[in-house]
Amino acid sequence: MNKTPKYIFVTGGVSSSLGKGIISASLAKLLQSKGLNVTIQKFDPYINIDPGTLNPYEHGECYVTKDGTETDLDLGHYERFLSIQTTKTNNTTTGKIYQSVINRERRGDFLGKTVQVIPHITNEIKRRIQLISSEDCYDIIITELGGTVGDIESYPFIEAVRQFRWDVGEKNSLVIHLTLLPFLSAAGELKTKPTQHSVKKLMESGVNADIIVCRTEKSISDDLRKKIALFCNVDTNSVIESIDAKTIYEVPLLMENERLDEVVLKKLNVNYTKSNLNEWKEFVRKIKNPKQNIKIGLIGKYVELQDSYKSILESFVHAGACNEVKIDVVPVHSENISIKNVKKGLSILDGILVAPGFGVRGVEGKILSIKYARENNLPFLGICLGMQMAVIEFARNVLMLKNANSSEMDSSTKNPVISLMDDQHEVKEKGGTMRLGSWNCKINKDSLAYKIYNKETISERHRHRYELNFNYMKKLSENGMSLSGLNPKTGLVEIVEIPDHDWFLGVQFHPEYQSTVENPHPIFVSFVKACVNKTKK
Ligand code: GLN
Repeated sequence: MNKTPKYIFVTGGVSSSLGKGIISASLAKLLQSKGLNVTIQKFDPYINIDPGTLNPYEHGECYVTKDGTETDLDLGHYERFLSIQTTKTNNTTTGKIYQSVINRERRGDFLGKTVQVIPHITNEIKRRIQLISSEDCYDIIITELGGTVGDIESYPFIEAVRQFRWDVGEKNSLVIHLTLLPFLSAAGELKTKPTQHSVKKLMESGVNADIIVCRTEKSISDDLRKKIALFCNVDTNSVIESIDAKTIYEVPLLMENERLDEVVLKKLNVNYTKSNLNEWKEFVRKIKNPKQNIKIGLIGKYVELQDSYKSILESFVHAGACNEVKIDVVPVHSENISIKNVKKGLSILDGILVAPGFGVRGVEGKILSIKYARENNLPFLGICLGMQMAVIEFARNVLMLKNANSSEMDSSTKNPVISLMDDQHEVKEKGGTMRLGSWNCKINKDSLAYKIYNKETISERHRHRYELNFNYMKKLSENGMSLSGLNPKTGLVEIVEIPDHDWFLGVQFHPEYQSTVENPHPIFVSFVKACVNKTKK
């Protein structure tokens, strides 16, 4: 018989962006390092079915799981911290919940009944909280609730948590509430009132927080802990300080110092041993003590937003630690790159990464940067759209097909070196209809890609509608662009490289989705190494 898992809910109050995802992932890491089987899921209160149709200004990066689900970027943190692989079950939205209830209503499952938020929507939320337990024998399931307590769209989730706790019993679940202690410089002190109000807001819905995690820029005194405990109905040990850290990867260590893991496991009545975080500590030590700094340009159109390319930035942190260097990622807005300024802008860099993306805005700047990198032997990594732009640049400037383009950018181009995939022609709906998730790629043995992976068959995650046009494959390879990785079934080009160049690689897939602390992605590790070598030349 399956053992019954224990459930931890993480809610947020006072402000958004307090780092619920990082706290959830850090706690999970601590529990995992004690030998417990842990997973995390995210429940998002917005009505979109998934964030695949949201632009990065609204929602930051869209993360893609191995089964091809477009999900919240927090799932990326869960995978990077825990080295687990999440699936569609790890991310639920209000949209998904209503969709399944409405589908059942149409089927007649509720015949004769009025379908209501309570119990129908809350029942569906409760069903989905437990759904993940059917995938594995988890000891602990952490559920992060997106949004902030008090938001209108969060109410059904909080209500479902209240009911759920009754269903599974006191010792089998707990609620961690993450809040902010603002520091008022005029008063010279940390303020607890917003926390008190947000805990009360939670109580109004019948949910008591068992543990309060206080995000703060200053250390919390014992007196302040006592005060928060008194007003928020918890014991003093359950007031946890979450002080701003230099790197998110330090948070598990800070949480261990605060004994968050022990407090949690005592409340849940789970026996525990000490965590073993030796490797993690070594990783953090390397992040904090780089032997050298290098500059890599990140060329994209959302570079001003730190969440838009989250997984790429984190992959750089992993690969940096591996090479014991710190990567100063220089954001380069592709719309601002011109023939006049490209040299000045890029000559100070040790390498460039051209980012994934959609639509025509900023693509000419990406193409100019790739030309500069190709002609000046600057290490280049192109991801998805970045790879497609590398093919266009090569077609225009080496094959001399001056009007070469992607049919995404110019549907009537005479030389569509990048064109819509065959099976996309019939696709009308936008949500979840790209080529998504993990697909195999077979690598040519005599290639940079093979040196990087040291194996012939790899599996990487995807999110695209366009591909390198088969009609141009011969011409490209005859003229110096090697098509070194192909999908073994369809022949779709997954990897392009220029053997005459020190390090020039374009990939149709997204290596950034698979880089973790434990397994930094080999493409990023090798790219960073090439950039370090560039500084020595
Ligand atoms: N817009 C391109 C396509 O759909 C690239 C997508 C991406 O970079 N993720 O194929």
